[in-house]
Amino acid sequence: MKSLSILGATGSIGVKALEIVRQFPQRFRVNALTAKTNVAQLAKQIVQFTPRLAAVYDVEHARQLKALLPLTAAVEIVYGEAGYIEAATCEDTDMVLGAMVGSAGLVPTLAAIDAGKDIALANKETLVMAGAIVMQKVAGRGVKLMPIDSEHSAIFQSLAGHGHNGIREILITASGGPFLHRQLAEFSTIKPQEALRHPNWSMGRKISIDSATMMNKGLEVIEARWLFDMDFQRIKVVVHPESIIHSMVVYEDGAVIAQMGVPDMKGAIAYGLSHPQRLPLHVPAPDFAQIGQLSFEDPDLERFPCLNLAYRAGEQGGTLPAVLNAANEVAVAAFLDERLPFTGIFPIIDRTMDRHCGKNCADLGQIIEADRWARETALSLIRRQER
Ligand code: NAD
Ligand code: MG
Repeated sequence: MKSLSILGATGSIGVKALEIVRQFPQRFRVNALTAKTNVAQLAKQIVQFTPRLAAVYDVEHARQLKALLPLTAAVEIVYGEAGYIEAATCEDTDMVLGAMVGSAGLVPTLAAIDAGKDIALANKETLVMAGAIVMQKVAGRGVKLMPIDSEHSAIFQSLAGHGHNGIREILITASGGPFLHRQLAEFSTIKPQEALRHPNWSMGRKISIDSATMMNKGLEVIEARWLFDMDFQRIKVVVHPESIIHSMVVYEDGAVIAQMGVPDMKGAIAYGLSHPQRLPLHVPAPDFAQIGQLSFEDPDLERFPCLNLAYRAGEQGGTLPAVLNAANEVAVAAFLDERLPFTGIFPIIDRTMDRHCGKNCADLGQIIEADRWARETALSLIRRQER
């Protein structure tokens, strides 16, 4: 029986993870759940999964959550960053699923590693911001770090039995998102509702916009650099609109090993939670005859310039990836609020990165400061544009 702390339980990944827990009650138990402000959903999850601890964003949401729970509910409610850390480090938790969105995942994830917890990581922003620190701590504490992102789960699975020997390169597949074939001239009129409608995957709002700009793929390139200790020249992106091949490893002899499946995060989540065992999920395999053809193309960097920004940030390293990430979070939020056009996302991140006096080797304090600085800078650039 594996005892889980699920950070970001009310999100797209969190909800799917709980479906897996419900399907395999003899294998998993929920010890802690966290959410930001969706207390109505969290209350239902608490009643169903009876965690020992629940954490929310602030004292007001803690109060609201308490009011929604039956008096008999034996759950301790905590809040704020300290509360998230408590959920991530609970004594009887074996594995922490990091499924918060954005930079908020960083500190609780690091705390979980320090506490010796195994990690299943969906929250790629943590590795983008502080990959060097995360991997150092993982090695130092000897904990297991399982990728949940489908591409990285695919790479992990394609490396099985080969270790780190004889790899030529990693090919990360990208669906291309909803605007793969949209005329570039029309990009400036794209509305949030269209950008949120991903052709293959159903995901949270922020990652859906990241997929539409292909920043998601850029973040994944940085994520892969850390998870698989690969330099950036050997991490390539290939557009594969059917999203059947989730990523591939090219070996030195030209052999390519790929992992395939229907586009459903359930597979990657279950694999991360139960590795080295595979769970009997009721997920169908792809119907290849029905699919007919798998297609591939190079990413179009004129349409999707954010991908280059990620390579630039990743190659420079230090605090720049945290700046990339923070400016992206701010620009995406402004686009969702209709304060910034779709084509305004790239320039905000680009200009914020240009203004940053980076440190090539950064400690956690410097990374958190760079995140704060980049948010402020990106916001002031957006405000200036609104005037
Ligand atoms: P989501 O928006 O659906 O859910 C996010 C969760 O985090 C919610 O429970 C929310 O309450 C919580 N949260 C949000 N902001 C928070 C904050 N400031 N402090 C504390 N908690 C906060 O997001 P999602 O789509 O489930 O994605 C979660 C993470 O997984 C992201 O990093 C994303 O990139 C990654 N990921 C998601 C998918 C997917 O299919 N959804 C696939 C691969 C990777
Ligand atoms: Mg992914």
